[in-house]
Amino acid sequence: MNGLTLTTKIVSGENSSYNYDYSSYSRVLIVTDQVMNKIGLCDIITSRLNEQRIKYTIFDEVEANPSFETVTKGVAELVEFNPDAIIALGGGSVIDAAKGFIFYGKEVHKELNKTFVKPALVAIPTTSGAGSEVTAYAVITDTKNHIKIPLVSDDIIPDIAILDPLLTKSCPSRVSAESGIDVLTHVLESYVATDSNTFTEALSEKVCKMVFQELINVVKDGNNIKSRMIMHEASCLAGVAFTNSGLGLNHAMSHILGGKFPIPHGRANALLMPQIIKLNKRNSADKYAKIAALLGFPSSTDEEGVISLLVGVEYLCNTIQLERSVTEFGISKEDYLAAIPEMAKAASVDPCINTNPVKPTIQEIEEIYKAIL
Ligand SMILES: [Zn+2]
Repeated sequence: MNGLTLTTKIVSGENSSYNYDYSSYSRVLIVTDQVMNKIGLCDIITSRLNEQRIKYTIFDEVEANPSFETVTKGVAELVEFNPDAIIALGGGSVIDAAKGFIFYGKEVHKELNKTFVKPALVAIPTTSGAGSEVTAYAVITDTKNHIKIPLVSDDIIPDIAILDPLLTKSCPSRVSAESGIDVLTHVLESYVATDSNTFTEALSEKVCKMVFQELINVVKDGNNIKSRMIMHEASCLAGVAFTNSGLGLNHAMSHILGGKFPIPHGRANALLMPQIIKLNKRNSADKYAKIAALLGFPSSTDEEGVISLLVGVEYLCNTIQLERSVTEFGISKEDYLAAIPEMAKAASVDPCINTNPVKPTIQEIEEIYKAIL
């Protein structure tokens, strides 16, 4: 069945985070991190809330890859303050943490035999990558057992996403690079996913063009607000695409790689991307060639289109200075090779693999991990 569900109202534009009318809320829990608070981005929101005479409290303890402990603290704050809205201001980690507060807040209320009135979730991303502002997914880290807990629920889809490019200006170029390549991974995976359809494909085609045209500009000049705006919207559109179509092997393998070794998510995706295209072209060469043609790359045959796309991906990754091998992260060859069998087994059962167009064998997954050494 074809279709697209969009639960989130999306608002976009310069200063939109300040200009938005929050007056339908009376008690707001602002979820953010200490950096946002320190560099004054939080003040933009609080000044607006003050102006609109809305009561608020700030929870600014979210760390990168939010832990279960942080979420537990946030849930306590949620129960105590009882807000009618949560404003999540920050990168994917902050928005995921806020989603965790709602997910586990509901459970805590159930345990206490109390009725849970779900607060509205307003997501204001400050990086352009995760697309968390429109998805039903969040990832929480169990730091004791070194595992990532994926949360999937319609309850955690944000009600409002506010895309204000001015908030992304402070994002360092290395973060813009890794976030931007994550956007490309989302749409390349969504485009060939088994649950893709006309609607998600249209989004993916548009986003591929946006990323290839603007990501380099953003990485070279973080003050280029026009390009920042386009990448911010691309990230959001990619989120709409993949929350409807699912992802694939690239994310399955990068989740495990990034869990085992300290490689940021976008960088792990970028390392794996060419290998995944080479595997998936087995039944998706026509789709990759279509993307290559849309990007203006040579694609007189499907084979030529796939090669052009691979060349384009390598050019983009090199230009924005992403690592092209695991050893560039200072990981020892021996440690990495020893970890491959266990990583391949774990990747083969990651939920993202379910919508990959090719069902790889464990051996094929191992070969891909070896190829990025
Ligand atoms: Zn991703």
